[in-house]
Amino acid sequence: MINLILFGPPGAGKGTQSAKLIEKYSLTHISTGDLFRKHLKEGTPLGKLAQGYMDKGNLVPDQVVIDMVDDKIKSSGNITGIIFDGFPRTIPQAEALDKLLASKQAPIKVLVELVVPEEELRTRLADRARKENRPDDAKPEVIENRISVYKSETVAVAQYYKDHKKYASVIGVGKIDEIFENICTEIDKSLLAK
Ligand code: ADP
Repeated sequence: MINLILFGPPGAGKGTQSAKLIEKYSLTHISTGDLFRKHLKEGTPLGKLAQGYMDKGNLVPDQVVIDMVDDKIKSSGNITGIIFDGFPRTIPQAEALDKLLASKQAPIKVLVELVVPEEELRTRLADRARKENRPDDAKPEVIENRISVYKSETVAVAQYYKDHKKYASVIGVGKIDEIFENICTEIDKSLLAK
């Protein structure tokens, strides 16, 4: 299995690049943000629970996220690999993911970080709020909280994969196709290395 993490702050372009990567490498896309939005739309208990956190730009509690990802992996059947998008967002999530994948003998090959300056993120999130009707993009204070939660909880996840020698980074500003090519180069390197 080719298991990858696409990592980066809110608005870095993870969703856009994931869509291209799943096609090129025949991967299954697991976006925890998308999964929560689906639950929310369907009005499930999980969706209702997540909503309170999402509306404020806070993280949904680790165990809730981990159980949802576990279910999703288990129900995915026979697949060639997974791209994780928006997960793991905390160290406990990263440790839990390692355990889940160890049981399948299919560890993460690489985490690729999309690096985007903060000012650019604020502009993109405000644009997305206008285009996509995402309530968590609409309020400046919620955007600020998501960026601040990213710094306090999520940045450490990149270090975790650096420590495990499974880290690469790509500049996330520029043409979508050029960023995509640069991500592919990093993925291909990690596939050759292992
Ligand atoms: P973004 O595009 O801003 O990175 P996502 O679509 O990935 O946002 O996630 C939207 C919201 O869903 C987050 O602000 C958070 O409340 C919740 N969420 C998504 N993934 C996770 C996760 N791995 N851990 C905790 N909360 C999450």
